[in-house]
Amino acid sequence: MISPIPPWTAQRTGLGSRLSPDTLEEWQLEQFRQVIQYARGKSRFYRRHLAHVDLGAVTRREDLAGIPFTFPKDIAEQGTRMVCISAGEISRITTLFTSGSQGPPKRICFTRNDLNRTIDFFAHGMSTLVTPKDRVMICMSSRTPDSIGDLLQKGLSCIGVSSLIYGNIRDPDHAAGRAGEFDCLVGLPAEMHFLVRTAPGLRPATVLLSADYVPDSIIQALESTWQCRVFTHYGMTETGYGGGVQCGARQAYHLRDADLLVEIVDPDTSSPLPPSRTGEVVLTTLQNEAMPLIRYRTGDLAKMAADSCPCGASLHRLDKVSGRLANSVRLDDQTCLSLAHLDEVIYAIPGLRGYRAAVHPPRQVHLTLDMGEKEGEPGLVDQLKKTLSLPVEITLGYTPLPSCTPNGKRVLTLG
Ligand SMILES: [Zn+2]
Repeated sequence: MISPIPPWTAQRTGLGSRLSPDTLEEWQLEQFRQVIQYARGKSRFYRRHLAHVDLGAVTRREDLAGIPFTFPKDIAEQGTRMVCISAGEISRITTLFTSGSQGPPKRICFTRNDLNRTIDFFAHGMSTLVTPKDRVMICMSSRTPDSIGDLLQKGLSCIGVSSLIYGNIRDPDHAAGRAGEFDCLVGLPAEMHFLVRTAPGLRPATVLLSADYVPDSIIQALESTWQCRVFTHYGMTETGYGGGVQCGARQAYHLRDADLLVEIVDPDTSSPLPPSRTGEVVLTTLQNEAMPLIRYRTGDLAKMAADSCPCGASLHRLDKVSGRLANSVRLDDQTCLSLAHLDEVIYAIPGLRGYRAAVHPPRQVHLTLDMGEKEGEPGLVDQLKKTLSLPVEITLGYTPLPSCTPNGKRVLTLG
């Protein structure tokens, strides 16, 4: 079945049956010019930041390269100057504390319309996974009005699906006691992994993993143990939570193209990269009223999918996110350690419930593996050291559930 996202894009853009990669690009460029005009007119930050942009010169996708980027530090340091509306028009402010940084937090503002577009995306995206007879357990966020959990619940109710906002999994035994009542579980990859080790007998039909890098090894552990289908979603608070979601083919993400323009750039040179080359994801919000982000450097690494989707949709798609720049540490000239690589290797260990990684300067890596009641196969530690081929010290022991930043990202601990 074709992803529900492209038909939604056709309706949202007004392109209808004329929707194609070319007409979408043309439409997105027009929206891009409009959002620059809007932001320059309404925000003190963008008035200066984009002062020299010649909108008449932005007619092709390649022309985007001439527009200045917006960085996370711009939001942290000048967020209030980015806002394009009056205080009374703000419906929600989300505060994101940057892990490991002493700097000010990022505050992201949304209007009611901004939040409603997210609800609409969730409604369409979730229709891939669930039908009105299903019940969804949302294992993240909170019941706070307009939190991601609340918006997801509202999106689900639009398609007649009931749900429970359970919140993050702090006690896997307690969560397991509730999860048996639900057909679909939504949660963070590491927390869902802990749950599958705690409660292998659960049988959700579908699982949606979101809010962090998703290791293939976790997908495999969930699918083989729970005999379910695992879908993944890509998004971030900064752009209004929802960004892209897999269809039934469970390959690259179908993107929220009516709301987001996605580019991939070389993280070092900032030059645009062609499809099939991995680089940093750069996002522009095309419709956000409260706080548009223009060419926002996300710190996520991914590439555009090179081919069209088996579901039949022909629009561009974003391939699996392969990690985050911030979770990568250079140990020496030859060795770069990434949390994504550790995740792929370590979550593949049978019986493992979770782990923690810390890097102590100059290049000592310390891993703590939680094997639950078991101690793991004999030779586990030696085998892992050989596989990782790193200067690593490994201990076995209890690790609490991985702590996340408020936007749900796991972190590589330094120092
Ligand atoms: Zn598809």
